[in-house]
Amino acid sequence: MTPDIIIVGQGICGSLLSWSLMQRGVSVQVYDTGIERSATHAASGIINPITGKRFVKSWMADELIPVANKIYTQLGEKLSQKIFEPLPIYKTLESVKEQNDWSARTADPDYQNYLNNTALEALDVAKVKNPFGAFAINGGGKLDAPLFLNSYRSHLKEKDALKEEAYTHAQALTSKTKVVFCDGFRSAQDGLFTGLTWQIVKGEYLLVRIKDFYNDRIISGDTTISPTAEKDIYYAGATYQWHYETEAPTEQYKNEIIESLYKTLHVPFEVVYHGAGVRPSTKYRRPFIGFHPEQPHIGIFNGMGTKGMSLAPYWAEHFAEHIVNGSALSEEVDVKIQSSPQPLSKGEGLTA
Ligand SMILES: Cc1cc2nc3c(=O)[nH]c(=O)nc-3n(C[C@H](O)[C@H](O)[C@H](O)COP(=O)(O)OP(=O)(O)OC[C@H]3O[C@@H](n4cnc5c(N)ncnc54)[C@H](O)[C@@H]3O)c2cc1C
Repeated sequence: MTPDIIIVGQGICGSLLSWSLMQRGVSVQVYDTGIERSATHAASGIINPITGKRFVKSWMADELIPVANKIYTQLGEKLSQKIFEPLPIYKTLESVKEQNDWSARTADPDYQNYLNNTALEALDVAKVKNPFGAFAINGGGKLDAPLFLNSYRSHLKEKDALKEEAYTHAQALTSKTKVVFCDGFRSAQDGLFTGLTWQIVKGEYLLVRIKDFYNDRIISGDTTISPTAEKDIYYAGATYQWHYETEAPTEQYKNEIIESLYKTLHVPFEVVYHGAGVRPSTKYRRPFIGFHPEQPHIGIFNGMGTKGMSLAPYWAEHFAEHIVNGSALSEEVDVKIQSSPQPLSKGEGLTA
């Protein structure tokens, strides 16, 4: 049977868009060549509402986080898997100035969902180096991305909605069916959307064994350490590499994460795995969503950058509403807003 929509890629974007569409009665066919090489599979899966050195709310945190909670809860129930866990994030402070900045931020009523207006906390100094203390960020959590991808893949297979093969832009051009590319950084390298303002960033990470460590929180120190479903195994990283020669893990960045772990931890650790992925990031830190101005049956749902876990649920719902009910796409993400003649040439940004 011909599907209503073809979706290319089953990372977080293709998975959540297909889910949001199917929830609205749309039939989909997802093509995916292998989730192991996806950015989603490499991700630590953290949703963090407060970012940066100045402890500011990340873009649209108040809107994104409730939708992420709702969608991951629905999916967890459907897949009968614990895919998402709300977890506090403990950010270690580096100076008295940072303590003051944090204190000022806690007084802002806009931040009360995320920061406690209490005294600074301290992590156990036998475990974590935090001479200036640490503060807890609430409202975030962690998606077990590999578990989600694998269990959702089985769900698609059961519905006969997955083809484990490549789908190309050449195929899309002659397709009678709408096609949406959710192919991650591949859309920056090939096809109709290469001219968008991509700024792809490779990331490397380690899985490390740490005995008797915190498995009920995420630690954000010189590197970020988060628990995994496996006892005593923690995700450490990731790095940011704007220029790289290989998509594979490298010794140089493995050593960089190890150095960061030494700066963060007082306890010993053992490296058990080293992985890498490429983030489909964008110059202006906004997703790329919508249909091509010259090929209106070919769309894109991509550009989630460093925050796919928090952005994708909200924007999948938003895009599904646009596709199914014709609601307007937000100008901040719509690839048509600043359209240029096809083919979209490099450097001509289509979006905000
Ligand atoms: C190391 C690392 C750590 C990260 N940590 C976090 C984090 O903690 N929190 C967070 O929110 N974000 C994090 N991110 C970012 C997040 O992973 C991305 O924003 C998100 O995964 C992008 O999802 P995507 O679906 O667009 O792309 P991808 O996950 O890359 O999925 C694309 C899929 O398309 C498939 N595909 C590609 N081309 C074709 C084709 N022609 N035909 C068929 N299939 C195709 C690929 O095989 C892949 O499965 C991290 C990223 C990395 C690399």
